[in-house]
Amino acid sequence: MADEILKVRNLTTRFFTEEGQVNAVEGVDFDVRDGEVFGIVGESGSGKSVTALSLIDLVETPGRITEGEVWYRDAELADEHRDSHPEAVDGDYVDVRQLPETTRRWLRGPAFATIFQDPMSSLNPTIPVGEQIAEAVEVQRRARANPRRTRSRTQGYGLGRLLIDSVIPSRNYVSDESHERAVELLDRVGIPDPEQRAEEYPHEFSGGMLQRAMVAQALAGEPDVLIADEPTTALDVTIQAQILNLLTELQEEEDMSVVLITHNLGVIARMCQRVGVMYAGEVVERGSLEDVFENPVHPYTEGLLGSIPDLEDPAPRLSPIEGNVPSLLDSEMGEKCYFADRCPKAMESCLHRIDERDAPSTLDGVDHKVRCVLADREYDESEALDGATAPEVTDD
Ligand code: SF4
Repeated sequence: MADEILKVRNLTTRFFTEEGQVNAVEGVDFDVRDGEVFGIVGESGSGKSVTALSLIDLVETPGRITEGEVWYRDAELADEHRDSHPEAVDGDYVDVRQLPETTRRWLRGPAFATIFQDPMSSLNPTIPVGEQIAEAVEVQRRARANPRRTRSRTQGYGLGRLLIDSVIPSRNYVSDESHERAVELLDRVGIPDPEQRAEEYPHEFSGGMLQRAMVAQALAGEPDVLIADEPTTALDVTIQAQILNLLTELQEEEDMSVVLITHNLGVIARMCQRVGVMYAGEVVERGSLEDVFENPVHPYTEGLLGSIPDLEDPAPRLSPIEGNVPSLLDSEMGEKCYFADRCPKAMESCLHRIDERDAPSTLDGVDHKVRCVLADREYDESEALDGATAPEVTDD
C-alpha cells in the first residue's frame, strides 16, 4: 500500500463574523497517499474550498484555523526541525501548522500548489501570463538557493528594489532562466506557440488556456501535492474534459498526489482513487471510490448518488435531497447530526454529535469511515424522528 504524503487530523477552521462564529470546517480527517487523486465532494457551502485553503494556510481574516494538524511527509524537513520544534515532528512527518511562518511559506510551491476555480480572477490582468509563471519559478529558485528569501516581488521584495528593477532591466526580479522555464511549462501544459503566448495578457487567453496557464504556474515548484479546487467549474464541457485529461496525464507523469475538490460526482468517478464526502463542514464519509460509490453508508452519500441521472436506465424523476444545507453559524448548528433535518433515516439516536466510525462492511476492506449511527446499527422506523421517512427499499 502506498504511504501517505499528507495526513490531515481534526482540521477546524472558523470565521468570526459580525453575525457570529461560522464553523466552516469542523474536525476534518483524511489522508492523501503517494501518487493518488483524492477527491473531496460536496454541495456549495459544504466547506470544501475552505478545507483546501486551510491545508495551505491561506485562510484570510475573519477566518482562522483554530485546531488540527496537517502532517506532511518530508524526511529532510523533519530532521531539520526535530530539535528546534520537536512537537512539530513525528518520524518523517512534520506538522505544517506548527512550523515557523517562513518555512510554511517556503512549502507553498515545492510541497503544495493550488489551482483555483476561476483563472481569470486568479491571474493578474496587467502582467503577461509568461511573466506571472516565471515569477513563480523565480520565487522557488531563490527560495531553494536561500530558504530565508521566500517572498515574491509583491510580498516584500521592496518598492525601492522594484523601482530599480523597472529602470534597469538587467536587474529584473525574474531571471532569463525562469522565463525560459515558464515557456517550457506553457508548452508542457499544451499551450500552442508558447513563446508568443508567454508575452500575452490574460484577456488574450481563452478560459481553457487560462486554466492551463494556472496549471503551469502550479507546476513551477514541482509540488508533491497539487490541490485543484473546482478546476473545471468555470469551463464549458469539452474544455473540462481536456483539463481533466491534462491533470491525469501530469499526475501520472510527475507522480504527484492530487487533492481534487469538486461538486461533480462524475469528475470524482473518473479521476479519483479515494474520496471524502463533505457536508456542513464535516467529512461525513470517506474511503475508496469503490466503497463509497458501491457501498455507501451515510444517507447524504446515498442521496448524492441517487440524484445522478442513469443514462442506461433513466428514471422518470431524479431523487433530489429534500431541504437545504443548514446554517453554519455556531449558535444555530445545535448538538445533533448536521444532516438530521434532511435525513430520511433520522432517529432519536441521531440527536447528538456523531463521531467518525468504521463502516460495517467495505468492498476493498480498508479505510471506509463514516459519521453516521447507521455504521453501528440498522435503521429502526419505531425510533424515527418526526418528518423523517425512510425511502422504500427496492431489490434493484
Ligand atoms: S446520524 Fe442519523 S440523521 Fe445523521 S445521517 Fe446518520 S441516520 Fe441520518
